[in-house]
Amino acid sequence: MTSPPAKVDRQIAMVLDLNKCLNCQTCTVSCKKLWNQDAGTDYTYWNNVETLPGTGYPKHWSANGGRNDEGGVKRGRVPNVDTEYGRAWNFNHDQVHKRQDGKKGLKVWLRPDGKERPKWGANWDEDHGEGSYPEDNHYFYLPRLCNHCTHPACLDACPRGSIYKRSEDGIVLVNQDRCHGYRFCVEACPYKKVYYDTQRQVAAKCIFCFPRIEEGEAPACARQCPGRLRFVGFVDDKEGPIWKLVHKWKVAIPLHPEYGLSPNVFYVPPMSPPKLDAQGRPTDQPRIEPAYLESLFGKDVHQALATVEAERAKKKQGQSSELMDLLIAFDWNENFRIPVQDSAEKDPLDDRP
Ligand code: SF4
Repeated sequence: MTSPPAKVDRQIAMVLDLNKCLNCQTCTVSCKKLWNQDAGTDYTYWNNVETLPGTGYPKHWSANGGRNDEGGVKRGRVPNVDTEYGRAWNFNHDQVHKRQDGKKGLKVWLRPDGKERPKWGANWDEDHGEGSYPEDNHYFYLPRLCNHCTHPACLDACPRGSIYKRSEDGIVLVNQDRCHGYRFCVEACPYKKVYYDTQRQVAAKCIFCFPRIEEGEAPACARQCPGRLRFVGFVDDKEGPIWKLVHKWKVAIPLHPEYGLSPNVFYVPPMSPPKLDAQGRPTDQPRIEPAYLESLFGKDVHQALATVEAERAKKKQGQSSELMDLLIAFDWNENFRIPVQDSAEKDPLDDRP
């Protein structure tokens, strides 16, 4: 059986509006540059953005772990670095940007450096999607990070007690001093958001930029997002965007709620234009299959989409809509409500086992 849920005083959370994601990967790059460029983690992306329908990162990551019917941890598997994550490779930047021979006019294309051609990597199937042009071709983007779950499978899977939730904000962290690198956490997380540092031989994962949170700053992925699609705050803050989107309007819902981990990252599901009939006229069917969205977000996705569509229609008719104003994010500062933590009172790592 599972251990009792880790008690936290408050829980921080993130909402991502999938109707606004550009797939620019600014979030991915800002996270990567800030936290993990070491040789042992160069294949990892704490934040990634994948194209759906598609294979995802790591390839076909879903349903490899989670919880069983009794709430216990389900063992999953550790993805393969070569065939499922894909190894990092270098590009021929020097050839392209700094030609040594002084010649001009000969175009050198940007391509992977060296003889070994990459065979797989994150976003290998970027923008492929599904369907046929022009009737029903479609895809959308899904940014993913650790969900800082209320019932983390990674935490329960660790025999060393190295994974813990901070009491002041519920952020899930790894105490790498205790970690022996068994990788049970990598197996158990069905979102595949714990990674293995192959050099230091310990688990490594998204830390929700906790040093920034303590200073009242949003995580780098959220702060750098030019689409203004990320909201950050505490779930119990009734004046904040998280409570309004998750509990009041019920348009932000977790990814794969059936895994049983109670994620604290929520998504506003994507709307889609209508399919076309044989004469090229719009039908009343959306391009993204509702059943597909239900397989990702559960049954609540239908009501969430209906609410967003109804509020959008109101706004188009010139009526006011608190929900639309929130999602449009006229004032970006209001996407984030993160009080500065009083770090003088408490060492931020006090909860560390
Ligand atoms: Fe742990 Fe995975 Fe949940 Fe993050 S998403 S808390 S790594 S189980």
